[in-house]
Amino acid sequence: MEVTYVIALPCVDVKDRACIDECPVDCIYEGERSLYIHPDECVDCGACEPVCPVEAIYYEDDLPEEWQDYYKANVEFFRELGSPGGAARLGPVEADHPLVAALPPQASE
Ligand code: SF4
Ligand code: SF4
Repeated sequence: MEVTYVIALPCVDVKDRACIDECPVDCIYEGERSLYIHPDECVDCGACEPVCPVEAIYYEDDLPEEWQDYYKANVEFFRELGSPGGAARLGPVEADHPLVAALPPQASE
């Protein structure tokens, strides 16, 4: 598995999509309650990380301890989707990883 950027808990129910505009390879996909970075399509450029208003994006090695599971969530979200090769082309997916789907509604800022 490649080392990659990961979207963690703070994106859930926020999803303002600021990161999408920064991604040169369009590998940030939209689920119902969170966005997910495709681990194989991401080129690890880091452009998305600083623009996230809620600091949801981390380089895998820098993921805070309590959000370690989000690495798996980002990877597993694409198990059925495969490698669509572009989020814009695919459009929003009406599903979330079970970890995200099971969360109670997150308070909006
Ligand atoms: S690190 Fe770069 S390629 Fe990967 S998701 Fe962020 S902007 Fe896209
Ligand atoms: S910028 Fe942050 S909060 Fe906004 S969609 Fe991307 S990861 Fe989610």
